[in-house]
Amino acid sequence: MVVAAHPDDEVLGCGGTIARHVSAGDDVHVLILAEGAVGRRGATRADAEELRAAARQANELLGVRSVTLHDYPGQRMDSLDRLDVTQLIESHLEKNAPAVVYAHFWGDVNADHVVAGECTIAACRPVPQTSVQRLLFFEVASSTEWAPKSAFQPNWFIDVTATFDRKMQALQEYELELRAFPHPRSEEAIRYLAGWRGATAGLPFAEAFMLSHNIDRSGC
Ligand SMILES: [Zn+2]
Repeated sequence: MVVAAHPDDEVLGCGGTIARHVSAGDDVHVLILAEGAVGRRGATRADAEELRAAARQANELLGVRSVTLHDYPGQRMDSLDRLDVTQLIESHLEKNAPAVVYAHFWGDVNADHVVAGECTIAACRPVPQTSVQRLLFFEVASSTEWAPKSAFQPNWFIDVTATFDRKMQALQEYELELRAFPHPRSEEAIRYLAGWRGATAGLPFAEAFMLSHNIDRSGC
């Protein structure tokens, strides 16, 4: 299960990994908490609707089992009651019983990402009855690296060489969110990042994560 703040964060952060899970036969569920475009200057209601349609298409391209588009206010998630956000995430965890959860890094420059990340951490507490064995934080180009003292130190690398093209196809659906190079949310920069994360781990293309916890319940 992927918990993202805005439509496009799921593809930027772990689109190649989602496609890998799908090709391995895993059911992937995506929960997007807030509207993306609304908080931006000049953005209209129509932009928000266009983004929701883009999210459905992008996730269909990736082959996810379900995508839920919640309607928290974009760029205002820090005004929400965190217990409400945590409980919403918990209800999706109960419904989908994921073994692996991908969440926002809690140190991003975007406040919605911080709230989404922290509430996912709270929802994924490793209590005895949880289904979640592994919690990983993804990075989002144009937010994670822009935090002045970014503490994002990836220690988990997933080979997305075989699925990188699919990630980029899914990203095309989010044309509204893409920028011209050298903005980090440009196609070129996203390709460079995947290449650099890959090179860090001896792979052509990779997505990088920080591990929160990984619980081995095999008993051996
Ligand atoms: Zn975002």
